[in-house]
Amino acid sequence: MTERRTAVVTGGGSGIGRAISLRLAEDGFATAVLDLNEEAAKNVAEEARQKGHEATAFKVDVSDRASVNATLDQVRSTYGPILVLVNNAGITGFKEFLKITDPVWDRIVAVNLSGPFYCSQAAVPDMIEAGWGRIVNISSSSAQSGQQYMTHYVSTKAGLVGFTKSLALELGPKGITVNTIPPGFVDTPMLRASEERGLLGGTVDHHADLTPVRRPGRPEDIANAASFLISEEAGYITGQVIGVNGGRNT
Ligand code: NAP
Repeated sequence: MTERRTAVVTGGGSGIGRAISLRLAEDGFATAVLDLNEEAAKNVAEEARQKGHEATAFKVDVSDRASVNATLDQVRSTYGPILVLVNNAGITGFKEFLKITDPVWDRIVAVNLSGPFYCSQAAVPDMIEAGWGRIVNISSSSAQSGQQYMTHYVSTKAGLVGFTKSLALELGPKGITVNTIPPGFVDTPMLRASEERGLLGGTVDHHADLTPVRRPGRPEDIANAASFLISEEAGYITGQVIGVNGGRNT
């Protein structure tokens, strides 16, 4: 890539977002690592810079439109127009359906679905102006299969699939692609926290044995797919659901 382009990765301080941030920085993007956990984002940006790449950390709460707008303005003044957006920040939840309270439902919707809405509305004008852009939404394989005790979480992730397909139709004529990667069973702090709380119905190793490729996903597996979807070569791919799940969902 000859011209520098700016990429924003939400939830970039941990797990999948960390791997995507490091990969996009390596790919030559000026990478804004956004996270609620500012310390974690700083560590990731520092890791990228130590490898000779361009990256800066920014604090954001994606569930808060004012925070999103203020942070994306800071990114713009640091690196210029935002042409790549990876909506990755997310929270999980396990609860019997009848025990999901309104505040729990509202919070997961705010982070997992309103977050991508706010971030995309803030970044898309830059992409339209440039006549080029890439949005990658990190949904979940659970949106394809359903998942017991995760009605609230899965609803947000299935919503993100519909969001992706609809936005792709609207933005395609403007040179912007919008795709979603629904990861399945990726070894991150989120997955390990679920394992520790006994919420996986077995250990990570047990599930790995049941996975067709016989291993858990690595954050880098998702980063590889995101990197491709963001590349020039992927310009004819839009509105797609690109599963990266070791064959657990087909
Ligand atoms: P993770 O390790 O928990 O990382 C998520 C990051 O997002 C954390 O740094 C978290 O900060 C941050 N975050 C949470 N709420 C935020 C907010 N309101 N604003 C900004 N940042 C926020 O999770 P992960 O496993 O890498 O998951 C990344 C994405 O992949 C999520 O959307 C998740 O639903 C999806 N996913 C993961 C898997 C999997 O197997 N791991 C499977 C399917 C889908 P805090 O630590 O401060 O909360």
